[in-house]
Parts: sequence; C-alpha cells; structure tokens
Amino acid sequence: MMLVSGGRVLNPASYRFEPADIVVEADRIVDIVAPGSVPREGRQWVDATDRLVIPGLVNGHNHAQTNLSKGISDRWTLEILLANAPWTAARRTVEEKYLSAAIGACEMLRKGCTATFDMFAEFPLPTIDGVNAVAQAYADVGIRATLAPMMADRSFYEAIPGLADALPPPLREQALAIRHAPHAQSVAVCRDLFTNWSFDRNQVRPALGPTIPHHCSDAFLVGCRDLGLELDVGFQMHVAESKLQAIVARQRYGQSLVAHLDDLGLLKPGFCVAHGVWLDDDDRARLADHGCSISHNPGSNMKLGSGLADTRAMLARGVNLALGTDGAGSSDNLNMFEAMRLASFVSRVHDRDTEHWLSTPEVLRAATEGGAQALGFAGQIGRLQKGYKADIVLLDLAASHYVPLNDPVNQVVHCEDGTGVHTVIVDGRVLLEAGRFTAFDFDALRDKAAVAVARLAEVNSESRALCAQMEPYVSQYCSGLARTPYHVAGFCQH
Ligand SMILES: [Zn+2]
Repeated sequence: MMLVSGGRVLNPASYRFEPADIVVEADRIVDIVAPGSVPREGRQWVDATDRLVIPGLVNGHNHAQTNLSKGISDRWTLEILLANAPWTAARRTVEEKYLSAAIGACEMLRKGCTATFDMFAEFPLPTIDGVNAVAQAYADVGIRATLAPMMADRSFYEAIPGLADALPPPLREQALAIRHAPHAQSVAVCRDLFTNWSFDRNQVRPALGPTIPHHCSDAFLVGCRDLGLELDVGFQMHVAESKLQAIVARQRYGQSLVAHLDDLGLLKPGFCVAHGVWLDDDDRARLADHGCSISHNPGSNMKLGSGLADTRAMLARGVNLALGTDGAGSSDNLNMFEAMRLASFVSRVHDRDTEHWLSTPEVLRAATEGGAQALGFAGQIGRLQKGYKADIVLLDLAASHYVPLNDPVNQVVHCEDGTGVHTVIVDGRVLLEAGRFTAFDFDALRDKAAVAVARLAEVNSESRALCAQMEPYVSQYCSGLARTPYHVAGFCQH
C-alpha cells in the first residue's frame, strides 16, 4: 500500500491541478481522496508536498536501436538518414541491442516518461534474441513499452522509384546488393515471437512495425494484417512522414499512402501512424473513421526538415492524437516535455486563428491519454484515476520554471524541460527519487556504451565509407523528387 499525499494532482476531467492524495495498492490507483483523509500509518509514504502530480508521460514513437547513435548527424533529411542506416544501427551484438534500449528507457524515465511505442529495428530481419533483449531492457529499467519489430522487404534503394538508377554503376550494384529478408520470413519470426512472448503484456507487449508502406510489398502488408488480426496485436507504421513519401505513393499506387493502406484493410483501432505530416482531409477521415491514432513527433519533423503536421485538423476530424520524440537518431533526445512544448508551438506557426492552435490541456492530453490509446493501453494508463495503473510523476515546484506559479498546466507544457522531475512511480514502484534511479544502475551503462560505440565504429567503417559515397547522389535525387508540386489543402508546407 502506498500513499502519495500533499501534492496538487492533475484532474483528468478538468485538466486542472487540485489538492488531493492518491492511494495505491500494488500496481493500481485505488482511490483519489481529499488531502489528509487517509492516514499515512502502515503505508509507504511518498511526500508530494510542493509537487505537481501528473500521469507518467507516454512517448508515441521511438526506436530503441538509435540510442547508441544519438548526435551522430546534423543536417540530414529523413532520406539521408535512411541511406546511412547500413552503418548507424548495424552489426549490433545482442548485448548492444539491450544496451541501446536501456539507455533510452533510462532517459525517458528520468524525464518523466513511463511508456513508449518502440519500433525496434534489425535488418535484414528481426531476430527473436534481439527483440527479447530490448523487451528485457524495458522490463529491467521498469517502464512500459509496446514493442514493434520494424521490418521491410524492400531496401531503401528498391523502395524509391529511380533512386538506384541515379547512382553511378559501381555504387548502383552495391546499393542493389542491400537486401531485406523475404516477407514470409519476417512474418514467421513475428508469429514465433508473439506466440512465445514471455514478458508481462501489461508491461511490455508486442506489436507489428512494417516500417513504411512502399518499403513493404503488398503481400508483406497483408501478411502483417492477417497476423495482427489473428494474434490481436497493434500496428505502427511511418506514414507520410516526408514529402518524398507522399510523392512516391502517387507514383506507386496512384493514391495516398493512407488510401492504399485502407484498400489493403490495415486500418483499425490498434493502428498508429507515426508522423502523418503529409496527410490530406481524405486521409484524416479514413484514419478517424477506423479509430486509428497518429503519433505527432514535432522535434523529429523539424530536425529532418520533414514539415509540420496539422494537428488541429487531426483532432477536428476525430483522430486520436499522441505525441512522440521519435528515435534518438532523428530527434536527438527522448524528452516528452520538449515534445509537448514543440507540439504546442508548431501548431501556431501556419495559422493566425488562435482557435486552431493546440491548447496546453490538449497537448498534455495527447502526451498522456492519447499516447495510452495509441500504445493499446487505453483505460490502463495515461490518467490519474481510480482503477488506472499507478504510473505517477511528481514535478518539483521549487524548480526555477515554476517560480512563480501562475498557471500549472501552461507551465508544465511550456516551461518544464524535465529538470523538474523529482519522483517517478511506475506500476506502484518508485523508480526515480530526487532525480536518482532507485532500481537500475544507469551509471554502469556509460562505460559499456563507450566500448560499444568504439567497436561499432570499427566494424561499420567500410559501410560508413560506402554510405558517404552514395550520400550526394541520394541527396540530389531525393531533393529533386521532393520538389514535385504536392499540395496539402489549406496548409503551408515547403
Ligand atoms: Zn521513426
């Protein structure tokens, strides 16, 4: 039994902070009561005096393999990032896969995030050992994850029409030699993985992650759809992240990516779009009508120059909105407070009508309840409410960004940068106290990370040199293709 008392607690109905105490039994909130009405005796006491109390934040989009490659890039578009994937996240040992995931899980926990949708990638195909290592890292650090092995049966060079031909002959051959596993093999690994899942699904649950529609054959997407229906697991895909993707969809399918996925029968309530920058009204209508979610990742979208998603249009049409950081290879931090601040700010860039801007309660809702729904945890996490899991974050009102305290919700969304996170409770366990990990040795990861990065630099040096040779051709071809006029109604994009 635990009592979190003396704090100002976010009311999920009003999205206002009110004095209240939270009673926890085992992993759940069993009551939220008037301050001082439940005695401390006989209970583990968490003193929330001088704290704001919010639900654990939920990161809607992430990639565990990228935590060892944070900070490696500067002026990369999404396409340059994908062209460099053969060295940035390749040739990892199982221990390095665990390490990369654990570093990210610790960063999220320290910054008040207690659950994430993770598209963990191994190419040419997912491995059972690799996915289990990532799941184990989340279980050991103690935060929740919906873990979707990221897969494709077309390489980057096969996926974009004309790209391989834009390379000079010796490089073209090397580009086309990059192959992913046949789709039946990837689906078989997932079937095996999901049916033998050994982790508590309330903490780490599996999902499917065919990465980008045109990087997957239709047969692969249909195979994933059928497996998802059979085993009742969620989905996440990168959809309309960059303008180039939207243009390639017209070339390949004669319609948008979302329309194509709809035709194939993939859209369903457990389906989460990552990004959704280049969507039109018809796309949003299809996603809303099927009960889908979108993880909006403004930091990644701005860093990679992908564009700015129209979150107001998503909400207005009834799409469930989540917020995410994206992986450390493209964002480059995993700070959900920054994601909230950016989501609020970018919603104001292209529209002078303040009614269309995201309000701070809408942003906070997307980073909690919206994310919970996107991860398949609706009704379990994302709210401080009786019956919900005890995933609770305490923010320190002594932090400079709360002095003075004028409007707590505005200040959590617009002022908090993660440095105010004092205590984090997940599943009724205190995992961070006074900003320090109580149950996991993060410091032990530092030396391991340095050793891993040195080893990977050596084993990936040839691939890195080859990618560097290809990069100017990829960049020139993709930016040329992205200059094709593509108009998303009512919305300013470059
Ligand atoms: Zn991503």
